[in-house]
Amino acid sequence: MPELPEVETVCRSLRPHLVGHTIERVEVLERRLRIRVDETALAQLSGKSIVEIRRTAKYILISLSDDLVWVFHLGMSGKLIRVEPNTARKKHDHIIVYLCNGSEFRYHDPRRFGIALVTRKERLHELPQLRYLGIDPFDPDLTGEYLFHFTRSSNRRIRDLLLDQRIIAGLGNIYANEILARLGIKPSTRACRLTRKQAQAMARAIPKLLQQAIRWCGTSFSDYRDADDKRGEFQSHLRVYDREGGTCRVCPGVIKRVAIGNRSAFYCPSCQK
Ligand SMILES: [Zn+2]
Repeated sequence: MPELPEVETVCRSLRPHLVGHTIERVEVLERRLRIRVDETALAQLSGKSIVEIRRTAKYILISLSDDLVWVFHLGMSGKLIRVEPNTARKKHDHIIVYLCNGSEFRYHDPRRFGIALVTRKERLHELPQLRYLGIDPFDPDLTGEYLFHFTRSSNRRIRDLLLDQRIIAGLGNIYANEILARLGIKPSTRACRLTRKQAQAMARAIPKLLQQAIRWCGTSFSDYRDADDKRGEFQSHLRVYDREGGTCRVCPGVIKRVAIGNRSAFYCPSCQK
């Protein structure tokens, strides 16, 4: 599932192709995404030029002329990619964007958990998807005190607290596990047991790790690709995620997998206490 580094990479790879260009028309092949695609709303995009592309949490915000914003979420398996004009349509190509310069982009999503909706700039903050988002991991307000505050009365597992989008927006299971590996904290630790010092280290580790992952263009296990259909390379730098049975990269220990809730957590029993 694309997390913050992957979504940031998609934004960066889309910009040179899209910003400054005009949409000729948008064709919807499948409306049944996580939220039903509103074809009438998408029809408004014809003739609009693309002003800016940015990310908020795991959402891609494409700002257009006339204060329209096209909001994308890639769901579990979504790809927003450039294809050569007149490329044969593939199964799971759901939306086709034709630009006036002849280039073509497609939203492809086998599992259809993605979102593609259009709103006005002034109504963006009212969207239920964006309204309750917590702090962005790169926001300087993500401090040790901020995290420490949320852990005090919490009996939740620390891995789950990191996944809570209302606290930190943009982390998913891969990077939550990787952050805990770098801090030497076991994923099943109760949040209330986190020390102030650990919370401070966590606030520093989160943007650092995500920055590193962005430099490697994110993590590709299966579906994730950037706009040029290129894979990310951070999977070879993962310390614990999806490495059950593998040797720890720091000590001779063997990586373990445990289920926390209905999602796997990975850790080194010697390095993470
Ligand atoms: Zn280890």
